[in-house]
Amino acid sequence: MALKAKPTLARRITRGLRFRLTVIYVALFAVILTGVGLFFRGVLDSIQNDQVSALLDEEWAALRAYLKIQRQKNGTLKHVWAFDHEDPEAAMIVERLRRVCLIADSNGTVMEASADYASLGVEQPEEIRGLIAANRVSLSIRPDERGTPYMIRSGVIVDEKKPFFVALGKSLAENQDVLKQFTTYYFSLLPVLILGCCLVGWFASKRALSPVTELAEKTDAISGTSLSLRIPLRGAGDEIDHLISTYNNMVERLEQSFNQTRQFSTDVSHELRTPLTVVRGQLEVALMTANTTDQYRDAIVTALQDVERLSNTVRALLHLSQAESGQLTLQRTEFNLSELAADLSEQFQLLADNERLTLETNLPKNCPISADRVQMERLISNLLSNAVKYTPAGGRILLSAHRIGDEVELLVEDTGQGIPADALPHIFDRFYRVPGQHVDPEKGLGLGLSFVAWIVRAHDGTIDVESTQGVGTRFRIRLPASVPETRAELKETYGVGD
Ligand code: ADP
Repeated sequence: MALKAKPTLARRITRGLRFRLTVIYVALFAVILTGVGLFFRGVLDSIQNDQVSALLDEEWAALRAYLKIQRQKNGTLKHVWAFDHEDPEAAMIVERLRRVCLIADSNGTVMEASADYASLGVEQPEEIRGLIAANRVSLSIRPDERGTPYMIRSGVIVDEKKPFFVALGKSLAENQDVLKQFTTYYFSLLPVLILGCCLVGWFASKRALSPVTELAEKTDAISGTSLSLRIPLRGAGDEIDHLISTYNNMVERLEQSFNQTRQFSTDVSHELRTPLTVVRGQLEVALMTANTTDQYRDAIVTALQDVERLSNTVRALLHLSQAESGQLTLQRTEFNLSELAADLSEQFQLLADNERLTLETNLPKNCPISADRVQMERLISNLLSNAVKYTPAGGRILLSAHRIGDEVELLVEDTGQGIPADALPHIFDRFYRVPGQHVDPEKGLGLGLSFVAWIVRAHDGTIDVESTQGVGTRFRIRLPASVPETRAELKETYGVGD
């Protein structure tokens, strides 16, 4: 036989729901945190660019104030930075403006290009001419030779009736540094956050799954002897509570079924032991005392009768256990219950006459039902046989049936000795016999009504009993009828309906 290897601890952990929940939680959290980081990096970048662009707008306004185009004596145009050289602030502004700056005339000829601008690459004359022709302000970001990005604001100014192309730039190196710092800090913090998240996830899932673990432990603890164990509801009214109550219900049913089986075996052994002891006793006595063939013969005949009764008990038991374990399936057919009841009452007539009982029927002509005919026969026979058994001479038995709505009601009434009120709840139990009843104990097995109850249940019907000691007993059975009641049927059956 191949032995199944026990999974290692690591394998058990990684297969567990807790591990999987934590992994999902952490993965989700990591994705969200990365997304949030990237989003804020983008926002920071765009805020910084907006600030630089606003700064360039201001510088452009300053440039318009300080940059002048002058016509030379020879007619050529020349640009000059006009400011008060005594004013250090003005000198500083102009110096800042000229740090990244390009000025070109309408032919595209460069009039001034700062070293920083040159390293960004000066536009070609035809390109400049095109930009002058387009005459619009543009903002762009370009890297210099070392890869440092610059924001460039370019546009056209008109002076001395001539258009000039002017571009101003601002390094974005500082912005890049801020972005780099943000990225470094944020993404080096991320593993720490994820680790924290792992721990939180691991403990949170442990807490969330603790009722499941408890359920598993309790389930483990349950065996044939501790089926009374129940898991208390947490009162949260959530899915776990639902699971617990479903589980408790299941154990409840299991317990009932276990108890039934246990009771059944006890009943069976008890019921079989007594007659077996009797048979054994009879045979032993015969063996010791009988001398003649006739005496042996008598002993064997008596023993045989007892054995016959025993096999009847065993047969009935087998039948009942087959029925209750679901091995007996109903063979439903449609038939007239009145006809069946009438036939059976005829069969019981002789028995009733022997006991000096009146057996009467009150049956409609037609009482269609979809049921298992054999089982229905058993049901009526059992009830009639009980009525005959437990009704003293001179009594009366009535078998009747009628339709009530969608149901068929079957009544078996007698004027017999009745059943005491405290015995009524037990009469459908296996082997139950009302103690002290004046009837031959050999006549009953105490299984008939158990079987009747099963037949009724299997047909989705109901059974109830009313009984008064010394007055009589009435069994009432209601079964779903097969055919919907129609006016025509009512008329045919009861002569009413028009
Ligand atoms: P039994 O084979 O002993 O009749 P049942 O299961 O049919 O077993 O009935 C159980 C017990 O219910 C009977 O032993 C009897 O005490 C009581 N009982 C059933 N039917 C009647 C009845 N019509 N009148 C009085 N007692 C009854």
